[in-house]
Amino acid sequence: MPTAMDIYKLLPKKNCGECKVPTCLAFAMQLANQKAALEACPYVSPEAKAALEESGAPPIRLVTVGVGDFAVKIGDETQLFRHDKTFYHPTVLGFMADDADGLDAMKTKISAAQSMSFERVGQMIRVDSVVLRHSTGKPEDFLEAVKEAAGAKLPIVLMTEDPKVMGEAVALCPGKRPLLYRATPQNHDAMIGLAKSCCFPLVIGGASSLDELAQISDKAKKAGVSDIILEPHTSGASSMLENLTVIRRAAVKKKFRPLGYPTISVLGNSDLDLMRAALGVMKYSSIVLMKDVPREFLFSLMALRQNIFTDPQVPIQVKPGLYTIGEPSEKSPILLTTNFSLTYFTVRADAEKSKVPVWLLVVDTDGQSVMTAFAAGKLTPESVAKAVETEKVKEKNKRGDIVIPGMVSRMSGKLNELTGLKIIVGPRESSGLPKMLKSLGG
Ligand code: SF4
Repeated sequence: MPTAMDIYKLLPKKNCGECKVPTCLAFAMQLANQKAALEACPYVSPEAKAALEESGAPPIRLVTVGVGDFAVKIGDETQLFRHDKTFYHPTVLGFMADDADGLDAMKTKISAAQSMSFERVGQMIRVDSVVLRHSTGKPEDFLEAVKEAAGAKLPIVLMTEDPKVMGEAVALCPGKRPLLYRATPQNHDAMIGLAKSCCFPLVIGGASSLDELAQISDKAKKAGVSDIILEPHTSGASSMLENLTVIRRAAVKKKFRPLGYPTISVLGNSDLDLMRAALGVMKYSSIVLMKDVPREFLFSLMALRQNIFTDPQVPIQVKPGLYTIGEPSEKSPILLTTNFSLTYFTVRADAEKSKVPVWLLVVDTDGQSVMTAFAAGKLTPESVAKAVETEKVKEKNKRGDIVIPGMVSRMSGKLNELTGLKIIVGPRESSGLPKMLKSLGG
């Protein structure tokens, strides 16, 4: 963001107050703090407006692929390192359906991409796009698959370097805002023209260097194509990491506009490609597209993505309260845990394995795990006693006992004193819960 002084230099300096602020300098300060909109001043020249919009734009452009509920947003990142703040827009993962495999195989993959999802720590994770690739197969198969995918509930990536075939594919999915892959040094004039006419985002790649990539992206921008995704050249994992890092650094630290766009990595399914996919999720691919990836790897990649794209300063939490597992009665055991999501879902999953109905008392620890919360004084006999009272635990459960995590056995005496409940020290790891719960019954 420009400073208040930078903005002030571009304002009309009439001090007329029509912007509802007494002076131009005060208005500049409000703009710098994002408390006012430039439109409030009727006297800003078009040149100053363009300059201010350009200097106030995020270092990496926010690009949307798809429309409505099924759109994905990428870019608009401001950090090099996740621990400095957070990464905002998770890497989009896409499955490739290639016309070299025939139309039926393409349709099967389109269908599989839509159904691939799972729940982890309370969040639904899924494949975010379907990629239709025209390689060695018949263009008719590719175009037929585009028609099929146009009805899918996922953003589409259209993959061909033939501008004619791309033009026909674009005509089959009006209003779907697919990503066009890709403009290269050989075809970029035609591809840029196509992207401009349909206003769809465009991948630029195939360049032999980052300099050439920047030149083509600059050309596209000047031609009126703003939604650009960059695909740097790579020859292996180390060059992939190097180029993606150079692009991120040039955008975030140097504000170098021709490289200030999201990035894409297109991979196969070799062991090296799988490793590069994980690398891309960590640093700094906005989109990773793969072909025929083993399901178990894909799920691991999704879990990695979830971990990378959470705010490191805000633990994922569940709501504190008394949860049920199965249909517990007044004879069912009560387990104690904290509201750190990973802890909660791990304990819950292990308790479910026992098939014994239980109550799960989740204490508010600001999203910290058991040992961290205990060490920080957020999981104390007093806080547990308060939760027992608030949740009316003794009314719902007549056993008169509670199972606490083995790692906080030291709170047993005081907790018994405060609640009157018999304290059962549970296993140190929740994986020991099924055995214990079966012995407790309920
Ligand atoms: Fe200055 Fe424009 Fe505000 Fe008038 S309306 S005070 S010219 S910023």
